[in-house]
This record gives sequence, C-alpha cells and structure tokens, in this order.
Amino acid sequence: MRNSDFGLKKLANAVPRRSPIRNPTSEILLGAHMSIGGGVHAAIERACSIKCTAMQMFVKNNMQWFARPLTLGEIRAFLDHTQRAELVSVFAHANYLINLAATNPQFHANSIRALSEELIRADQLEIPFLVLHPGAHLGVGEEFGLRKIVSSIDEVFARLPGLKTKIALETTAGQGSCLGHTFAQIAFIISNVREPERIRVCLDTAHVFAAGYDMTDAIAMKKMFAEFDRVIGRDRLAAIHMNDSKTASGSRVDRHEHIGKGQIGLAAFRFIMNEPRFRNIPKVLETPKGKELREDVANMRTLRRLIRTGSDRAAPRAHLPKNGRSHQVGNKQKYR
Ligand SMILES: [Zn+2]
Ligand SMILES: [Zn+2]
Repeated sequence: MRNSDFGLKKLANAVPRRSPIRNPTSEILLGAHMSIGGGVHAAIERACSIKCTAMQMFVKNNMQWFARPLTLGEIRAFLDHTQRAELVSVFAHANYLINLAATNPQFHANSIRALSEELIRADQLEIPFLVLHPGAHLGVGEEFGLRKIVSSIDEVFARLPGLKTKIALETTAGQGSCLGHTFAQIAFIISNVREPERIRVCLDTAHVFAAGYDMTDAIAMKKMFAEFDRVIGRDRLAAIHMNDSKTASGSRVDRHEHIGKGQIGLAAFRFIMNEPRFRNIPKVLETPKGKELREDVANMRTLRRLIRTGSDRAAPRAHLPKNGRSHQVGNKQKYR
C-alpha cells in the first residue's frame, strides 16, 4: 500500500501540540479500561469519577474497522479537559479485529490501515502508546506468523515517520493460534522490526497465567519478571493489565475475572502492587463491569488493600485462601 493512501501524515500534523500535563504524584498508578461512549473526553470523566490515576481507552469503536477522523473539537475536548491532569497515565488499546498475521489479503490490508489510523488518533490525543495483540497465525505456523507481524509493523511505522505514539505489544493467553503467549515470541518481534525503539510491552496477568507462567507466590512472580527482563528487557514494560483468570494456568483460554475471584490468587497481585519497580507503571483493570463502574471500584479497593504499609511489611503475611470457584459473569458483559 502507498504511503499517501489515507492522508495520514497530514492528519497527524493537523493538531497543534501542547506539552502534556503530568501530575507528579506519589500515588500508585491504578485504574481501569473506560468506555468512550459519548466521546473520547467522556472516558476521562468516567475514570475520574472513581478516582483512577491511570486509564486505558479505545480510540474508536472497538468492533469496527474504520471510523471518521476525530474532529478538532473532539481532540480539544479531550486534551483540554479540566480533569485530564488527575490522570497521570492515559493509554489506548487497539481494536480487536486487527490481525497483523492475517492470511486473508483483505483482512491484512484492513489491519494495516486500521492500526495506522488508530495510531494517528492516539497521537492526536497525545497518548504515549497503543496496546496491540500481536496477531494470530491462523494455521500457517508460529514463525511465519511472527515474521508477518514484523513486516506489518515495519510497514505501519514506515508510513508514519515521527509519530510519537508507540505500539505496546500485549502478552497473550495463546488461545487458538494467537501469538505472543511466550516472552520469546514478543522478543522475536521486537528484535526483528526495523524500529524497535517504537515498541513497548503490556503484560496481562490473566494472559500470562493462562499461558502457563507460574504466578503462585512472590518467589514465582520474581522469577517470571526476571525472565521478562532477560528475554524482553526490563525497560520495555509500559503497562500491566490487572485481570484475574477464570481459566486454569496453562489452559491458554482467555477469560478475565474479578480480582480475587479467579484462579490466579491474591499473592500475584500483592507482589505487583508492592514491587517498587511497578510504582510508575500504569496498572489497569479489564474486568467485566456495568455502567455504574461498581465492579471497578471493588476491584481497585481489593488491589489497594494489598499494598503493605510500613508496619506490616516486616511481619510475615498470613496465607490468604484462594477462592477456587469463579464468580459467574456473563461473557456478554466483557469490558467495553
Ligand atoms: Zn489485556
Ligand atoms: Zn484477555
């Protein structure tokens, strides 16, 4: 495809830049995925209404390939929102249709175009990175699929030189033929693209658990992150998706559950909430919820309660029983 296809560069430069307001807060970066129903600025209001300090959002309807460009008014309503400074970290998630390893030429072309357009929308909203599921090889094999993802990312970046928004590859559960369920697969993509400096990584707790990484206790978590550092690189980590898993370790089935109600166990979340290196890493929920966001409030409360205070840091922790039975949540209620 040609560089001039969608007038992307022109669009990217249409909005005057402004230095992003960053609130230097010592508070832990915690929040949830927020709907953009009513406009992108509405996500900010939703997140602030439940005191998030971090937020993930889509940059357009997540089940559609394409959308009309954001208007200048929509962009300004987002960037100039009075509550924006309350959110220390705002990042985006790409739509679910995109598959950079798609074997169908039309789907693949759509994926390249949709990813390019979403990166531009994210850049217009001064969002630092767009979380992306690497792709599914659909039977052609892992290496072939990974190479196709690499060339697709190269193509997208080549047509968007100078764009500030990076891609954050998400670790996946490995459901079906989805790639990215091992740190080695993510590392393969990063080490083979032409512009690795434009790639970050988002770790999803439910996905790495379902993919088979041991998350039993603090020792296992330390080991898992040591492997992340060794294989992918410590500095690549941009965000953590905080989801419990309905499905078992190694099941490679991706089903998010409320924190403490799934099979991961609170020890893994306690480790993340207390580890100093994750203090400045945004941690966001992608768990099922209703319009009133009560579930987000409850999950954030559960996570905050795991933070050790100075006094109980030294004391040995009582073992918290794992809630074996998963709380029933309709699949249709999946986060939007
Ligand atoms: Zn996720
Ligand atoms: Zn998931």
